[in-house]
Amino acid sequence: MDATLTDGRVFSAGAWKLLFESKRRALGDPLPHPGSNRVYAVEKKTLLMAEDEPPGASLKPLVFRVDETTPEVVQSVLLERGWSKFDQQERNMEDWNLYWRTSSFRMAEHVNVKPWQCLNHHPGTTRLTRKDLLAKCLRHMERLYGTPLYQFLPPTFVMPSDYSKFVAEYFKEKQALDAKLSYWICKPAELSRGRGIIIFSDIKNLIFANTCIIQKYICNPLLVGRYKCDLRVYVCVTGFKPLTIYIYQEGLVRFATEKFDLGNLQNSYAHLTNSSINRSGASYEKIKEVVGSGCKWTLSRFFSYLRSWDVDDLLLWQKISRVVILTVLAIAPSVPFAANCFELFGFDILIDDNLKPWLMEVNYSPGLSLDCSVDVSVKRRLIHDTIELIHLHSLRDERKESCRAANGSPDVSLARKDSGQGSDLPYESFSQLGSRRAFSKDGTPGKRAVTECPENQHPCQPREELSRQEVRPPMREPPKAKPKARARHQALKTPIPRVSLIQSHGREKGLTLCVQPDSSWVPGPQAGNFVLIFPFNEATFGASRNGLNVRRIIQELEKLTHKQCSQVAEEKIKRK
Ligand code: ADP
Repeated sequence: MDATLTDGRVFSAGAWKLLFESKRRALGDPLPHPGSNRVYAVEKKTLLMAEDEPPGASLKPLVFRVDETTPEVVQSVLLERGWSKFDQQERNMEDWNLYWRTSSFRMAEHVNVKPWQCLNHHPGTTRLTRKDLLAKCLRHMERLYGTPLYQFLPPTFVMPSDYSKFVAEYFKEKQALDAKLSYWICKPAELSRGRGIIIFSDIKNLIFANTCIIQKYICNPLLVGRYKCDLRVYVCVTGFKPLTIYIYQEGLVRFATEKFDLGNLQNSYAHLTNSSINRSGASYEKIKEVVGSGCKWTLSRFFSYLRSWDVDDLLLWQKISRVVILTVLAIAPSVPFAANCFELFGFDILIDDNLKPWLMEVNYSPGLSLDCSVDVSVKRRLIHDTIELIHLHSLRDERKESCRAANGSPDVSLARKDSGQGSDLPYESFSQLGSRRAFSKDGTPGKRAVTECPENQHPCQPREELSRQEVRPPMREPPKAKPKARARHQALKTPIPRVSLIQSHGREKGLTLCVQPDSSWVPGPQAGNFVLIFPFNEATFGASRNGLNVRRIIQELEKLTHKQCSQVAEEKIKRK
C-alpha cells in the first residue's frame, strides 16, 4: 500500500515500515534539543511523516524470513529488535522485509526482490570467497594496474594449472635459501575451517587432490605469548554500484592453542588458527601465556595489547582497511547490479612480525555461532549494527526518493533543505568525527588530537588519535617486562554500549543525507560500529559514481600509502 503525505510525497508500504522502526526508536529515545544539529531536523521530519500514516498500520512489525541455515543469533537479534518471523501460512508470500540465509540467492530471487525487501547476499561475490578465484582476481589486478599495493596475498599457485610454475618457484627459492628451509601451505579451494590443509617444506610431502592452492607459508607471524593468531575482520558492502564499503571496528582474534614451532609442521594446533580446530585441542582450556584460556580475543583487546607495546595500531588498522578496499575493488566492476541487498564478509588477516597484514581468505557468510563469551559479545552486536546499517541505507534511499518527489528535481540536497548549510559530501563530517574518523578529508590518518575516549565510544577504537609511534621491530617475542600503561591509551571498556542509529546520528554533527547533483546519494560515515572506508575522500567518491574508475581509485590509495610512509619515516627521524 502506497501512502501519500499531506505534502504530496509518496511512500511505498515497505518504506513506511522502515520509517516506523525509526519512529518507535525515536519515541523511546529522548530527542535531541531542537536545533542542536541538522540531523535532528531530518529525524523530526521522519516522525512527522509517520504521523500521517493511516491508523492501524503503524504497529505492523518488520518481518524477517529465514531458512534452515539462518544463524540462530540473527533470528534472536531480530526478534529482540521487535521484528516478526515470516510465516508462510499466515502471510502473503511477499510480506517480508529481510531474508537472511547462509547460501546465496538465485538471480531470479534478486530480480524479483520488491522495494520493501532486502537480501543478505549480493550476486557475484563468490569470486572473492573461493580461494583459487580470489588468488586469480588479485593477481589480475596486480598485473593490470602494475601496483605493488596488491602484494598482500602471499604468493599463490592455483593447482593443478600452476603446478609447473610452483615447482620452478620452489626450486628457485630452495637454491636462494641455501641450507635454510622454505615453507608452503596447501589449502583446498572450496573447503573451510582448516579442513584438508597441509604445511610442508619438502615438495615430497605435497599431496593434493581436486582444486587447491599452494601458498607461501608466512613463517614469521606476529606472536602473542608465543602463540600464532589471525584476525577476523567483518566488512559490509552495502552496494557495489556505487561501491560502498564499511568495516566493523570490532572483531575476533583467533589463536592457535599450542606454541608456534616451525620444527613441527604437522601440529595443526600450533599452525592453524581456526577455532573449529583449536576448540578440540588439549590446551584449549589451559591458561596460556598472555593469551589466557580459550582461543579467542576481541579485536579491541588485541589492539589494546599492541598499544601496550607501543605499536601504532591506527596505522595497522589503516593498512588492513586498504587491503579490504583493494580486495573488494578487484570484483566490483564485474558484479552484476542488484538492488536491495548487501554482503557481510569475514576477512581473515594474518599479521607478520613486521606488522604487515596478509590476506588469508575472505569468508562468505562468516560463522555466527556463539561458542564462547567473546563470540557472544562480538557477534550479537555485529548483527545489531548490520541491521542498523541496512536500515540506514533503506531510509536514505527512501529519503532520496522523497526528496526527489517533493522537489520534482534530483538536484536538491535534503541536508541543505533541512539545515540550510553544510557540504554535500561526507568528508566534512569525517573531520567532525573526532576519534571515530577513519579518514580525513584527504584520506590521511587522523591527526593526534583526542586525549580521551568518550564513555560510550567503541572501546576498541584502534583508530583513536594516537600519536604516530615508531613501528616496533619484529615482535615475535615481546619483552618479558610489563610495559607501563600510557596515560593517553584509554583502558578498554567492554561490552560496548549499544548506540542506536538515531542517537549516534543525533550526536554527531554534519552526518546528513543528501542527493547529489548527479542524483547519487552520499553514504553515512558510521552506523553503530561500522565505519565507512570507501569512498574515503572526494576523489574516490567521484571515481565511484557513474561507473567505477578503478585506476583513479588505485592512484588515490597509492598517494595515501605514500603519504603515510613519509609520515612514519618523519616520525622515526624526529624520535632519533
Ligand atoms: P580455511 O578456509 O580452511 O579456514 P584459511 O585460508 O583461512 O583456510 O587457513 C586456515 C588457517 O591456516 C588460517 O587461519 C591461518 O592460521 C593458517 N594459514 C593459512 N594460510 C596461511 C599462510 N599463507 N601462512 C601462514 N598461515 C596460514
